[in-house]
Amino acid sequence: MKWIDYASPNSIKEAVSLLSSKNTVSRAMAGGTDLIVQLRAAPERIGNPDLVVDIKNIPELNEVTLNSKGLTLGSAVPMYKIYNDTSITNLFPALQDSTSLVGGIQIQGRASVGGNICNSAPSGDTIPTLISLNSTCKIDGPNGSRNIKAEDFCTGPGKTVLENGEILVSIHIPAPGKQSGNSYLRFIPRNEMDIAVVGVGTSISLDGDIVKSVKIALASVGPTPILVTDAEKIIGKSIEDEETLKIAGEASKNAATPITDMRGTIEFRKHLCDVLTRRTLKIAKERAGGN
Ligand SMILES: Cc1cc2nc3c(=O)[nH]c(=O)nc-3n(C[C@H](O)[C@H](O)[C@H](O)COP(=O)(O)OP(=O)(O)OC[C@H]3O[C@@H](n4cnc5c(N)ncnc54)[C@H](O)[C@@H]3O)c2cc1C
Repeated sequence: MKWIDYASPNSIKEAVSLLSSKNTVSRAMAGGTDLIVQLRAAPERIGNPDLVVDIKNIPELNEVTLNSKGLTLGSAVPMYKIYNDTSITNLFPALQDSTSLVGGIQIQGRASVGGNICNSAPSGDTIPTLISLNSTCKIDGPNGSRNIKAEDFCTGPGKTVLENGEILVSIHIPAPGKQSGNSYLRFIPRNEMDIAVVGVGTSISLDGDIVKSVKIALASVGPTPILVTDAEKIIGKSIEDEETLKIAGEASKNAATPITDMRGTIEFRKHLCDVLTRRTLKIAKERAGGN
């Protein structure tokens, strides 16, 4: 392994300045659970960095704010802090579903939701949740700040909208309305420590039994996580009606563009999209309750 410098800035400005240096190839590091593996196994795939910029000591990136507008999660907040906070998980149980199954307990102690989306693996478990919860990503860089919807953040395997020198600062999830519910499920062949063969994140809001809004996103069935736009066909229909679940399941199946590999065929993955969409909708409905 070649020599790699390490820096641990205390401000966004300093981090951006280090990451935008023209003479150095650098990478931001949050928990390092992807980055350190990549630096050891295949550094050429991430540009053979000379410098790792540890962003965990930047206060804004560790903040968690929950108020009437919603939840703002600093990009470096580790997963265990999210699923252990009932004020977050009561409102956004899908965040608990997805963060509590990433790796094992040691990984969850370091890994961040920000790192999960910046790593842009098609199988990233928290990404469908962020998309289905209508999240916005706040980015800072040499040219200032910008916001981007979670569904537009990943552009390919390992690729994102982040430009040279930019970092993800935080993720904002708007407050859910009345009678809202959300859920994430993944299929893996083992009980834990595996990559999703398919993952589905779903959020709905209801008026009685009628679907007022829905957002469904898929993992591991395309080069990036996929927003199922046709799921909106169930708006105005009764969530109690089997036909409604069937329409949503079909929409997911049709939006998926999986490949066949050792973990599943195209046909199997499409079938799983249908099954997991129906199941997450049922769970989201239960969680939406009557209030
Ligand atoms: C044993 C093991 C099991 C795992 N299991 C799962 C699993 O079940 N599900 C799953 O989805 N993932 C899994 N992972 C992958 C990994 O843990 C997650 O993707 C994790 O969320 C990455 O977060 P991190 O904070 O460690 O990111 P890091 O490793 O620090 O960074 C990941 C990438 O994002 C970039 N980056 C990080 N933060 C920022 C930022 N704020 N701004 C700009 N760029 C940034 C880094 O430069 C790097 O390219 C597993 C990994 C291991 C080692």
